[in-house]
Amino acid sequence: MFDHEISELLAQLNIVERLYEIARIVDPIEKKVISYRSKEVVKSDVLCFDFWERNTYCNNCISIRAYNEGKAFFKVEYIHEKIYMITAIPVQLESGLVVVELLKDATSSMIFSDNEDGVHVELYKIIDTINEIALKDSLTEVYNRRYINERLPMDVLTAALSKGSIAIVMADIDFFKKVNDEHGHLIGDGVLKAVATRLTGAVRGDDWVARYGGEEFLICLPGADEASAHAIAERMRVLIQEPILLAGGRHLNITASFGVCAVMPAAETTAEQLIEKADDMLYKAKQNGRNRVEK
Ligand code: GH3
Ligand code: MG
Ligand code: MG
Repeated sequence: MFDHEISELLAQLNIVERLYEIARIVDPIEKKVISYRSKEVVKSDVLCFDFWERNTYCNNCISIRAYNEGKAFFKVEYIHEKIYMITAIPVQLESGLVVVELLKDATSSMIFSDNEDGVHVELYKIIDTINEIALKDSLTEVYNRRYINERLPMDVLTAALSKGSIAIVMADIDFFKKVNDEHGHLIGDGVLKAVATRLTGAVRGDDWVARYGGEEFLICLPGADEASAHAIAERMRVLIQEPILLAGGRHLNITASFGVCAVMPAAETTAEQLIEKADDMLYKAKQNGRNRVEK
């Protein structure tokens, strides 16, 4: 990062700061604040999410979205008694892409501005719900593709920095087209929901499940090595082949195939590389007869 570019950008933020409580530059992949609070350059070990005092990534990080999609995003967040309107704007510098975050205290300008605690609690719930919706697949209620794009690079980098391992599992329902053809799309949708529920039931802790697309799911297992990732995928495979109860008391038997990729990532390892490897293994599982796990 060129210092002069950052200081120029900071000077510009100086003007903006009259309108916003906080204007800061962040690197949303590393989660580092590059600088600026109350007219002071803060050289930073500060993580951007520290501000929200939740000790973890923000659930609906719009800065990584601005970074990935090259346009500004807005959202509402809260801490203690305060509600903030946040704007994240991508700024392309010669030395790289950064994101400018503008935080505006909107507590007094929100509709519910009396200080009754109950009202605030309700409002906080609504804010949490809105921030969840952007990241969830509406049919299956697991995370969506956008979440994968935003979260996986962070989890890979976290594993690299802590010299730990990370595994991803790609799961694809076998002969799903036949389910739709023989039973109709509504039953097909029900099967997708049942599969998502079973996958979610097989993971814990920091693990997460997302719908990659169609009848394909991605499961991220931070900290898992190849043996444990394989064991978890095997557990999922067994769960999915249990008969699924349909409306009217009928049962349907389906299976799924799994590809596993477990690595101890280097700093330059990308999420795409992991997905590609897991996809190759999934392809192999299909080739080798389906209803199986390959690693
Ligand atoms: P394979 O074992 O090789 O994976 O075969 P497959 O039939 O599962 O794979 P294919 O890619 O041929 O078909 C996937 C099907 O998934 C086709 C598509 O209509 C269906 N599908 C994708 N999204 C949805 C959805 O949201 N709801 C329903 N009901 N079907 C979906
Ligand atoms: Mg399939
Ligand atoms: Mg598929």
